[in-house]
Amino acid sequence: MAKLTTNDYMAKEDKFGAHNYHPIPVVLSKGEGVFVWDVEGKKYYDFLAAYSAVNQGHCHPKITKALTDQAKTLALTSRAFYNDVLGDWEEYMTKLFGYDKMLPMNSGAEADETALKLIRKWAYKIKGIQKNEAKIIVCDGNFHGRTITIISMSSDPDAYTHYGPYTPGFINIPYNDLARLEKELQDPNVAGFLVEPIQAEAGVYLPEDGYLKNAAALCKKNNVLFVADEVQTGLARTGKMLACDHENVRPDILILGKALSGGMYPVSCVLADDEIMMTIKPGEHGSTYGGNPIAGKVAIAAMEVILDEKLVENSNSMGEIFRKELRSINSEMVETVRGKGLLNAVVIKPTNGKTAWDVCLALKENGLIAKPTHDHIIRFTPPLIINEEQMLNAVEIIKKTFKEFEV
Ligand code: PLP
Repeated sequence: MAKLTTNDYMAKEDKFGAHNYHPIPVVLSKGEGVFVWDVEGKKYYDFLAAYSAVNQGHCHPKITKALTDQAKTLALTSRAFYNDVLGDWEEYMTKLFGYDKMLPMNSGAEADETALKLIRKWAYKIKGIQKNEAKIIVCDGNFHGRTITIISMSSDPDAYTHYGPYTPGFINIPYNDLARLEKELQDPNVAGFLVEPIQAEAGVYLPEDGYLKNAAALCKKNNVLFVADEVQTGLARTGKMLACDHENVRPDILILGKALSGGMYPVSCVLADDEIMMTIKPGEHGSTYGGNPIAGKVAIAAMEVILDEKLVENSNSMGEIFRKELRSINSEMVETVRGKGLLNAVVIKPTNGKTAWDVCLALKENGLIAKPTHDHIIRFTPPLIINEEQMLNAVEIIKKTFKEFEV
C-alpha cells in the first residue's frame, strides 16, 4: 500500500473527526527533545510544546521509562482501592509545594472544576455562606478549559456562544484591576478569586508588578480564597517553579496540569491545606483515572526532570535571549514582544494582507512550528530543555521568516 502523505492524513481527520480545531497543516509522527518530525521526515523546532505540556521535551527518556515500566506493572485500580504509588506521589507533591494535601485529576479543566468545588464547599462549611449563595470572582480574558461551568466564566464568545444556560455564581472583573477586585470583595458572599498569574491563552498578558501580591493580600483581608490556575504558567514555564513565585505569593488553592506529566499522560492536581481540602468527604468528588499508578510515576519523574535539569534556570536565561533577539527584529509586522521565562508572545500587525496565521505557515516552511492565539498573537513556548545554540538557531529561523514578509 502506498505511504500516506500529509494531505492524506489531514483529509482523513477532516472527514472522520469533529472540526473543533483548526490546526497548522503539518502532520507530526515523531518527537525528541525540542524537535518534532512530520510524516515526510521533515524536522521542526517545536515552539508550542503542546501548549506548555511538553516543558521537559518530547519523549523524555526518564518520563518514558516511568510510563512504560508502570504500564507493565499496574495501570489502573480506580480509587475503590489503594494503590502503592499514589501515597508517594501525594507526599512528593505536598512536600515540594508546601501544602497539606493533594487531590489528583486528569485534565486541567477537571482540576479547575475541582478547585471551584473546593471553593464552594469551603464557603458553606467554613466561611458560613448561606446555601447556594457563594460567588467566585474571575477575570475577563480568562482561560480555564472547556466544561460548561468553565465556559460560564469565559468572556470569549467563541468559548461560550450557544452553550447556555450557564452556571451561575461568577463575578467577572477586568484582569489586573485591583480597585475593582477590592470593590467586589466587599460582597460577603464572595468565597474565592480564581486567577491565572499570567493570562497565557488570552495572548500572554502579564499583570503589573505587585498585582498578584496585592490581590492575594486583599483576598486574605476579606476571608476569600486566592486560587491560582498555574496549569499553563506553572512548572518552570515562566522562569520560576510557579508564576506566583515571582511575587512570593502562596495561593490558598494551587491548580497544576499539563507539564505535570511532561506531555506523557493527562495528569493534573489541586493542592490545598486541610481546612479547605478536608471539606470534601468520601464519595463527594472523584475520577476513575485520577490518581492512577501510571499518572503517579509519570508525574514524579516529570517533576524530577524539572528539578534535576534545572529547567527553572534555563527557562529564565533562554527567555532573556529570546526576548532580546526578537525585540531586535526590525519588521513592520512585529508590534510587541512580551513574556516571562519561556512563555512569550509576539503581537503581529497584519501587513499587506498577511496575518499571524501566514507567519506561522511560513515558519513551518522554514522548520519551526508555532500557533497563533486570538488571530494576531503568536505564542512562542518551546520545551524548557532548549539550549543556547538551539535557541539562537530557532531565532534565526524566526528572523528570516519575518524578512520574507518585507516587500
Ligand atoms: N487552565 C489553563 C490556565 C490553561 O491554559 C488550560 C489549557 O490551555 C486549562 C486550564 C485546561 O487544561 P486542559 O486542556 O488540560 O483541560
